[in-house]
Amino acid sequence: MSLSLSDAVAIDARCAIKAYAKVPVLFERGEGVYLFDADGKRYLDFFGGIAVCGLGHSHPKWVKAVQDQAAKLVHVSNLFYTEPQAKLLAKLAQVTRMDRAFICNSGTEANECAIKIARKWGKSKRGDSCHRVIGFARGFHGRTLGSLSLTANPKYQAPFTPLVPGMKTLEIHDHAALDRELDGTVCAVLIEPVQGEGGVWPTDPRCLQGLRKLCDERGVLLIFDEVQSGIGRTGAWLDCHHAGVLPDLAALAKGLGGGFPIGACVARGEAAEVIEPGEHGSTYSGNPLACAAALAVLDTIEEDDLLGNARETGAYLRSALEGLVANNPDLLDHVRGRGLMLAIEFKQPQAKQVARAALERGLVCAATGDTTLRIVPPLVLTPRDVDEGTKILGEALASIAVPA
Ligand SMILES: *Cc1c(COP(=O)(O)O)cnc(C)c1O
Repeated sequence: MSLSLSDAVAIDARCAIKAYAKVPVLFERGEGVYLFDADGKRYLDFFGGIAVCGLGHSHPKWVKAVQDQAAKLVHVSNLFYTEPQAKLLAKLAQVTRMDRAFICNSGTEANECAIKIARKWGKSKRGDSCHRVIGFARGFHGRTLGSLSLTANPKYQAPFTPLVPGMKTLEIHDHAALDRELDGTVCAVLIEPVQGEGGVWPTDPRCLQGLRKLCDERGVLLIFDEVQSGIGRTGAWLDCHHAGVLPDLAALAKGLGGGFPIGACVARGEAAEVIEPGEHGSTYSGNPLACAAALAVLDTIEEDDLLGNARETGAYLRSALEGLVANNPDLLDHVRGRGLMLAIEFKQPQAKQVARAALERGLVCAATGDTTLRIVPPLVLTPRDVDEGTKILGEALASIAVPA
């Protein structure tokens, strides 16, 4: 017998460590841009499991790749070679324009790998004091202690202090402060080209270009956290490609596996040569099943030109959302983002309420913060899906606009 929503809610309340505040919907299956709950109700997905499901749900090429690989070989450890891992390493180098990759299992691990490489590199260049890493306000890099130490959100950090020493966050446009910090003790600067969890704040291309120049002048590694913005989300393989800038290290995850847990730290130049055998690792890292899933994602993005679609359908979605802003000037302030990584900024803290009203009407999206509605749909989104979703969003907005 299958589990009802109320059963699942009760079990979660009794047995789960209380890390998540969940919305009471029990999803059962997905198909393309749609999700279906246990009652068979259909939802259009403008969330993609937090910018993860680039191919949508149960994409036939992804399903076949995972099924075939599961039936063949799932795990052997990194003591040995496998074909999916070798193919994924080559593909990652090609699409990211970086030299080497360390495959891992999540976004936070990709950042940990980048931080460890930067520390070892700094020590070898300028001695033990050169171990500090600079991040930025509103940044989000993950929940493990290293990444958390560069995630300047007191709610995430305060319960778990002491954090990793040598980590500091600055305001994103405070050039003077950054200049002061780069005094020989900093081995790396870490930034998201489009801040995701912090509210979908895209950097200006000149910001990335300026950081590249500054880091080169001062002998500091530049790390881009592209866990959310990478793998086609903003219409390029990496968001930094739009600005014509490459980092020394980049963290990838969310969109990489199309829902299968996998991440990667990609490295270029000197940073790619830092780690020696035995210095870093992870048991699961790069197992053939995860790599087959990621390969299916990268191959499909390429074959179906989903980068082009993220740009074109992203522009269409953006203008549709701007239409909503124009129609709801009392509620909405503006739209921001790049490609299919977008957000609507509210004038009042009503984003959660609207997300909930949209969900009731069959559209999945979610607030990040009180005033920001994040829209990160599958990269396979069509203009027809945009019309359907923005119609529902319009109705959700109308439902809260009516005075009680
Ligand atoms: C989600 C996210 C992370 C953390 O990824 P996990 O897979 O949850 O560890 C890190 N950086 C950015 C930019 C993210 O969006």
